[in-house]
Amino acid sequence: MNAVVMNAEWSPRPGYEVSDRERATGKARMASQVYKKPVFRWETVKDPSPARDEVLLAVRACGVCGSDTHCYESDGEGYILFSGPVRMPCICGHEYTAEVLEVGPDVRFLRRGDLVAAEGMLNCGVCEACRIGRPNQCPHLDMVGFSAPGAYAPLMASKERFLWKINGLAERYGSAQLGCEVGALVEPIACSYNGMFVSAGGMPPGSHLAVFGCGPIGLGAIALGRAAGAATICAFETVPERLDVARALGADVALDPRSCRPHEAILELTGGWGADMLVEAAGAALQTMPEIEKAFAPGGKMVYLGRTGLRAPVLLDVLVSQAASISGARGHVGGGCFPNILRLLERGRLDVAAMITTRLPFDRALDALAKSTDRKDGKVMVQYPAP
Ligand SMILES: [Zn+2]
Ligand SMILES: [Zn+2]
Repeated sequence: MNAVVMNAEWSPRPGYEVSDRERATGKARMASQVYKKPVFRWETVKDPSPARDEVLLAVRACGVCGSDTHCYESDGEGYILFSGPVRMPCICGHEYTAEVLEVGPDVRFLRRGDLVAAEGMLNCGVCEACRIGRPNQCPHLDMVGFSAPGAYAPLMASKERFLWKINGLAERYGSAQLGCEVGALVEPIACSYNGMFVSAGGMPPGSHLAVFGCGPIGLGAIALGRAAGAATICAFETVPERLDVARALGADVALDPRSCRPHEAILELTGGWGADMLVEAAGAALQTMPEIEKAFAPGGKMVYLGRTGLRAPVLLDVLVSQAASISGARGHVGGGCFPNILRLLERGRLDVAAMITTRLPFDRALDALAKSTDRKDGKVMVQYPAP
């Protein structure tokens, strides 16, 4: 089969200590410290051969993730931007939905013809982190499309424990294709859900929500905030196209942070109270933290989902005076993230189809990756022919 394969040079930065484990497995813990000069191209690769407890899948839709863009792009020294675990070469793509083609003899719940959405974090299930309910922090984690074969390929193999049925989405949208495209948004929205409702413990209906950054994770936070009964949602983003999508998904106010003072806008919208929950999905902590620290409501919670390797200045005294808190989160597994989002989507309580702003066919997957670098889209979606 033909697949989009990413490759790069293994060339650890001076000062980065390569561990024995990294040397033995070829998997870099922090790809941005090890891999340079990325190349993405079509290659002919072997069809997957599923194990007894796996299913063979025909991919139906796959979103381009910011992390894919971060592998596609490199910094001034040629290193890729993505800081997660990567083993190159690798078929990329992980925000996918698929149709089950074959089931192995030990598969229990899935049947041929089922449509499924897939978790991208292949946690081991047996280590201490996994067993205490922190699968996103599994130290043995493999990630689909980064260290395990990804979905920019017509066929994939997966264990059923990473798959969720989405037949109901196809019914809801009256089309397997549209159901699969919306289903492919569950993974990024689950990252927002994990941060807001699992890691930070959620917010009561009637809360004021502020969201910094309106890429897919910020847009997911806006849509979830609406579904969870936020009283107001104030969004900040520098790209005008994304401000429009933020409004379409439920932001009451969507502003360019360069043309206002965000904390003042939040205080104005909330009658001086501040935000009960603040989501940082911009990865621009240097710019956002000085605003966020002035916008906490009493007992306010900040959720940090953006990523940057830079240190950000924060006046921590506000955590004392406002009894505020900051939580971080990575990933989208466990905590009911996937099944709860699917329930909301299937019952029409969460409408996120407006997030998809560009659609390209599978044979243009490389163009889809290139398009994502302009950062104007809510989500770039790759569509696959039905099997
Ligand atoms: Zn993703
Ligand atoms: Zn584990």
